[in-house]
Amino acid sequence: MNAVVEFRPRDNGCGDAPVLRERGQREVFCGLTGIIWLHRKIQDAFFLVVGSRTCAHLVQSAAGVMIFAEPRFATAIIDDRDLAGIADANEELDRVVGRLLDRRPDIKLLFLVGSCPSEVIKLDLHRAAERLDGVHRGRTRVLNYSGSGIETTFTQGEDACLAALVPELPHTEPGSAPDLLLVGTVADIVEDQFLRTFRAMGIERVAAFPPRRSTELPAIGPNTLVLLTQPFLGDTVRALEARGARHIAAPFPFGEEGTTLWMRAAADAFRIPTTRFEQVIEPQRERARAGIARHREQLAGRSIFFFPDSQLELPLARFLARELGMRPLEVGTPYLHRQLMAQELELLPEGTILSEGQDVERQLDRCHAARPDIVVCGLGLANPLEASGITTKWSIELVFSPVHGFDQAGDLAELFARPFNRRERLRALEGQV
Ligand code: SF4
Repeated sequence: MNAVVEFRPRDNGCGDAPVLRERGQREVFCGLTGIIWLHRKIQDAFFLVVGSRTCAHLVQSAAGVMIFAEPRFATAIIDDRDLAGIADANEELDRVVGRLLDRRPDIKLLFLVGSCPSEVIKLDLHRAAERLDGVHRGRTRVLNYSGSGIETTFTQGEDACLAALVPELPHTEPGSAPDLLLVGTVADIVEDQFLRTFRAMGIERVAAFPPRRSTELPAIGPNTLVLLTQPFLGDTVRALEARGARHIAAPFPFGEEGTTLWMRAAADAFRIPTTRFEQVIEPQRERARAGIARHREQLAGRSIFFFPDSQLELPLARFLARELGMRPLEVGTPYLHRQLMAQELELLPEGTILSEGQDVERQLDRCHAARPDIVVCGLGLANPLEASGITTKWSIELVFSPVHGFDQAGDLAELFARPFNRRERLRALEGQV
């Protein structure tokens, strides 16, 4: 019997569940945050935020100060200007970019990243990027995308960045053999594991997007099959499909089950025999099971509430419910992409409250009424919730840590066990236990 096909929803799931849609005050980072992991991934790219001092502070404090390396992000601060000052702002931007590229010949790809201050909105960054691309083409590509807090939340910055990069991808040769494209930024070590595993199965033509160097952009075409590593890439998928690529529907590679189903979807698309597939992944599944088992006893039966932040909420809730026995009460996400989340929703336990967008005060009321054992939320909400006696997990940690794949499944479970350990230690210190 094929062990892999045993994964099934245990009840009716949440495929048809109603979604509470809220459009009020929200507590979510803007899309500029994506620069932190994108600049580490694409090693010859530079991200020039065109923004205000607030934007500069956000990016700098989220990234920390780079002492030993030349930074690969910066902010061109656009102060308050009237429309007559926009021509000057464009000239200034051209000067800043010219100086930067003269000093840094290692930069092969420059992103002008838009933000939300009104002075920046008046600037047409797309035209600015086209103009600068014309000047510097041959040595540096210049593209633009928006990380503005008005248009994007947190991880949507990566979606906007990758969607802007898609038109640059070369075409595959007509009639070329099918190839697999893994799309979404994951830690290099995780990406290497995925590439190795797919090759071991027999899928030789496999590449990752974004690449580590912008000069190594993968080719795409009608024979390209796209497998998402991250769930927040709706615009990127649409742009890839417009170039002829086809998306493989799958749950996301979190936990043993999620990673198995994710790899299985690709293996099926490439007609890899089941025996070969299982032979390759079984040792990895075994390691994942062992890693997860270490934390199950501590987490099983605990309730969890997700505030919307990273768009990883649904896959993580599915992992915690099915592999660790936790009870998701409410799973909030900034944006629910039904098509990309279809399989995740089916696997999520029936009765889970789903919410999209945010009205933070109302959601806090629901959270306090539900009394969850742990809350996953952004940094701004964590301290007040901790002060009211609720254990929290910062969702940003789940984005910055390598948590995808078999070998990281135990670490992912541990990230949810740690806050309980910390609270117990604090209680012990306070003499409450
Ligand atoms: S883009 Fe907008 S939300 Fe983001 S840091 Fe700048 S001002 Fe703040």
